[in-house]
Amino acid sequence: MHDEVHSGGLSVDVVIVGAGFAGLLMLHQIRRLGLSALVYERGSDVGGTWFWNRYPGARCDTESLEYSYQFSTELFREWKWSERFATQPELLSYAQHVAQRFDLYANIHFNSAVKKSHYDEKIRKWQTTTSSGECITSDFLILATGCLSTAHLPEIPEMDRFLGKVYHTGNWPKEGVDLTGQVVGIVGTGSSAIQVIPAIVPQLRHLYVFQRTANYVVPAWNGRIPSEYELSVMADPASFRRNNATMIRAHGYRNRGKDLSALSVPHEQVERDLERRWNTGGLNFLDGFNDLLTSTDANRIAAEFVKAKIRKIVKNPVVSELLCPRHPIGCKRVSVGDGYYESFNAENVTLVDISQSGIQRLGEDSIEAGQSSYRCDSLIFATGFDAMTGPILSINIIGRNGVTLREKWREGPRNYLGLSVSGFPNFFIMTGPGSPSVLTNMHVSIDQHAAWISRCINSMKTRQLTEIEATEDSESRWVDTVSQIASNTIFPSCNSWYLGANIPNKPRMFMPYIGFPSYESKCKEIEENNYSGFKLV
Ligand code: NAP
Repeated sequence: MHDEVHSGGLSVDVVIVGAGFAGLLMLHQIRRLGLSALVYERGSDVGGTWFWNRYPGARCDTESLEYSYQFSTELFREWKWSERFATQPELLSYAQHVAQRFDLYANIHFNSAVKKSHYDEKIRKWQTTTSSGECITSDFLILATGCLSTAHLPEIPEMDRFLGKVYHTGNWPKEGVDLTGQVVGIVGTGSSAIQVIPAIVPQLRHLYVFQRTANYVVPAWNGRIPSEYELSVMADPASFRRNNATMIRAHGYRNRGKDLSALSVPHEQVERDLERRWNTGGLNFLDGFNDLLTSTDANRIAAEFVKAKIRKIVKNPVVSELLCPRHPIGCKRVSVGDGYYESFNAENVTLVDISQSGIQRLGEDSIEAGQSSYRCDSLIFATGFDAMTGPILSINIIGRNGVTLREKWREGPRNYLGLSVSGFPNFFIMTGPGSPSVLTNMHVSIDQHAAWISRCINSMKTRQLTEIEATEDSESRWVDTVSQIASNTIFPSCNSWYLGANIPNKPRMFMPYIGFPSYESKCKEIEENNYSGFKLV
């Protein structure tokens, strides 16, 4: 499929970075065009997020039937999910199954991290080098590096003094970890922590949960998928997928809300809807009304509803107050999981409020915070990721005139449609900043990007064009559009990773585009207008 070149390197039409769900589909689409492609993956197998995040309790919080590849009805029908919210091992098996079923393994190089990609303007090709010493020349470079794949371990004084084991949820050991009978400290209370905590509490001697910011957690009510529901979905997968794609976050059409302000109806009606959604479980909790994420007054109703639930579930009133968040619900990502708040009723769990003190230092067998020292055998950092830009900028990407992407994005990510960066021809980013990405069901966003990029490449090849690249003007207008849409919501109002606020010195900028349907139609319109806003050569 690919040619050897004189330098001893390889030459292909397309280099794809990452063999997670996005990279696998991209490879499949490129091969369907009859073009050659190679995928470079730093892990030893496919799966991306689901390869690395093997922590106890890890599972997806988008429903399995929705969090499935969209491109093949046969695949969709033949794969049987065992639960409403799939576990990490099942998601990893799914990725492996897809790679085998579509014969993708042959074109993936594992244990091979891309270090540098340089656009050679003379030959109009990308030159890519990897950690395993490979050099590859390609017409196109596509990043499918994921949004939450650069784990963030905070800098804590005297980190190295701790003699016990230290784990990060985003880099969990492949061989597993036995924590039985241990005293464990967990730092962080985001979506990863709220899954780990209930999963490990029963086996621990004691768990200290170090909380800097309380988090809103809504139940999943996980269980088997009702067979009549599954049958109805399988009867018409196309309309199931299409209906989900009409939702702002590209999933949850069964739970579609009303195009109505929560402030325009009696309070009891809003409460009833929240109660119904709480009892249904899942990420569509805030979908009942059109202003829960745009009006602080409407948002407060939903926030207070969850706080009342927390106070009811957690028996110790001091602990339950500490667990009640103070920021608007949804401006940091809402977490979904079962048994999180209940864990704080267990005798072997202590919530440690570090909102004022932070963690001061580590001792040989302890965490020190506030005026106290907490003896621990092992520590788990569930402290998140350098989200969205971290995985992209971990590669030294060099565009026209030797300008690096890192320099270009010094004040935050700039691109057009999230897909293309001016000064970086024939370069595409999948589900990155500037696209709906992390605010959506990833499979829908991945499918839309893979299809758009492959049609674009096909069009270039058939028209014998050699370069495509966003213009600076369209890029600037797009950056303004993304931030303008966000400014009409409650999203910018707290220190979330959507804004880069969790990483010291990271530029603050709301990164994802809000609203899958309007994004999808914009991409379509641009394609139909012969890639308006792009420079084609
Ligand atoms: P996260 O949401 O960024 O949470 C990190 C936690 O660590 C926060 O509680 C944060 O507190 C705390 N933290 C960070 N640095 C700290 C420090 N120096 N000292 C004390 N606490 C610190 O990370 P995550 O839980 O890994 O989740 C990231 C995203 O991954 C999620 O939002 C979600 O999109 C995705 N995810 C999805 C699933 C799923 O599908 N089920 C599961 C896990 C993750 P502050 O809030 O104060 O910064």
